[in-house]
Amino acid sequence: METYLAMDFGGTKLLVGEVDAQGHILNQKRYTTGYVNQQDAVGIIKSSLNDFLSTVGTSDHNVRAIGIGLIGRVDTAGGRWLQIDPQRSQPVDLAAYVKATFGLPCYLSNDVKSATRAELCWGHGTKSDNFVYINIGTGIAAGTVVNGRIVTGSHYNAGEVGHTQVGVNPGVRCGCGRTDCVEAIASGIGFDSCARLLHSSYKETALRLPDDVGVRVDVRNIYDLARGGDSLCLTLVDNAARAIANLIMNMVRMSDPDTVVLGGGIVSDPYMYEQILANLHPGTMRFVTNGVVLTRLDPAYAGLLGAAAVAMTEEEKCVAKAEKI
Ligand SMILES: [Zn+2]
Repeated sequence: METYLAMDFGGTKLLVGEVDAQGHILNQKRYTTGYVNQQDAVGIIKSSLNDFLSTVGTSDHNVRAIGIGLIGRVDTAGGRWLQIDPQRSQPVDLAAYVKATFGLPCYLSNDVKSATRAELCWGHGTKSDNFVYINIGTGIAAGTVVNGRIVTGSHYNAGEVGHTQVGVNPGVRCGCGRTDCVEAIASGIGFDSCARLLHSSYKETALRLPDDVGVRVDVRNIYDLARGGDSLCLTLVDNAARAIANLIMNMVRMSDPDTVVLGGGIVSDPYMYEQILANLHPGTMRFVTNGVVLTRLDPAYAGLLGAAAVAMTEEEKCVAKAEKI
């Protein structure tokens, strides 16, 4: 059986696994990374893959390639990891390094574009050539598929739609410097920022703000309290639902998709999903014939599946190109 080694390098964790061509995860192991720069991350990627191969192994399968999904900007064609964020920008030829170290072809992509690739290979994208995948978790970003191709842009930075304003104006400053970006309202970071901004105006709220530095308000707690009628939490949920619905409708106007796929922890709760749907205008959504749907891929493993999907797709392209020559 042919398989792919996949690595999902997130903000503070690294998941390594083996995935077959049908998108089944055969085995996987999780590693913690902490807050690291790219150079340290490369060392962690090497040591984790070595550990995975020696402790878990690949079950005597024929491993064709390694795929790595990374946070930040990634040049998939050149195999370069360009940056984690503007403060951590040390471009590294990661694909060539992994190939030289492990003797297998290696392909890279950004984490959200990887998840979009997984949708194309094994999810809703198997029935659509024009869809958008929007990930709403700690942050917000999207993959846009037009005529079967994922839009990358001139600097591999397409899809950073979290930093667009969506007509919901609580007055919260975003990390990018603007106010009221959708990410500053409807992501995990956004719920926390807005809860802290509005908390003193809702004296009767039962929502407690964590005292510890770096600990965010638990969004599940906000949903639970909103269901019970807590006015602050109802406001937070209503703002976020309208913000996400407006983002969806803006993206629909931009690329004319027939399917909108939502992924990430914020939207996986049925309560929030229903609130988003309720804020969509039927006229704007009339050509989204497959609807606004939740990803069928397990959110805990979307990144890992995405990395495998990138390896599978790029390796097949490579083989097809070689056969032509
Ligand atoms: Zn922003």
